[in-house]
Amino acid sequence: MKKERCAAIVLAGGRGKRMGTTLAKQYLMLRDRPVIWYSLDVFERTPWMDEVVLVAGKGQIPYCRQEVVDKYGFQKVKAVVEGGAERYHSVWEGLLALRQMGWKDGYVFIHDGARPFVSEEILERAYKEVCQSRACVVGMPVKDTVKIADEQGCIHMTPKRSLVWQIQTPQVFAADLIFSAYKELMKKEQELLRQGIQITDDAMVVENVCGCPIRLVEGSYENIKITTPEDLKIAELFCPGEDQDRGTSGKSSIPR
Ligand code: C5P
Repeated sequence: MKKERCAAIVLAGGRGKRMGTTLAKQYLMLRDRPVIWYSLDVFERTPWMDEVVLVAGKGQIPYCRQEVVDKYGFQKVKAVVEGGAERYHSVWEGLLALRQMGWKDGYVFIHDGARPFVSEEILERAYKEVCQSRACVVGMPVKDTVKIADEQGCIHMTPKRSLVWQIQTPQVFAADLIFSAYKELMKKEQELLRQGIQITDDAMVVENVCGCPIRLVEGSYENIKITTPEDLKIAELFCPGEDQDRGTSGKSSIPR
């Protein structure tokens, strides 16, 4: 179905402090695979996805190579690079790696390695949208009412629920747009920090720096991010069973 070149940056550079484990959350076992395996497997099995850059934590490149990429035979992972202190630093390292690999055009899918349940259908929806709009993020409408609090812990305002979305990944952009937005961010980083702006996703980088419209694409309520211990229990429920096929393209990344 697709014609444009597509790359994914899969982020596994976080320490996962909120999980409270020594091993970062993306390497914890979910059934019999590390959490990071699940999303890498989806990118690997998606026929039109060309290559993947995996961003590892500080000093974790050898672990990531041996225990993830080589162990499970992920062919599309063309580079494993070291991330930075914040998520956006890790994305920047991933983008620099793509640049070194000669990437100038096509589309870049930025995905949290801590989200195991992205699917090929979600990738396709995002691909179709990004071809039209150059920038889109996956998310779902919230089910709960959301309140914006003030610094004193009181309700400041209640946004109209039908307009509130919970944002997930992948976040997908035309390569030239995301490279230039991140380049600008790295220039303005100190100024933004001084203003107390926290950069927690890629859409913000494009919003803050370029001011161009970013489309919302339906993800799924299962596309959760594993952050705290209870998320792992929920993830167990969403996990494909032992008897279900987990490598349907015929190019399974399960080691033989
Ligand atoms: O910390 P948070 O849950 O927002 O992290 C989202 C994703 O970004 C995770 O997959 C995590 O490994 C990654 N990350 C990263 N580098 C950081 C912080 C987070 O690659 N410095």
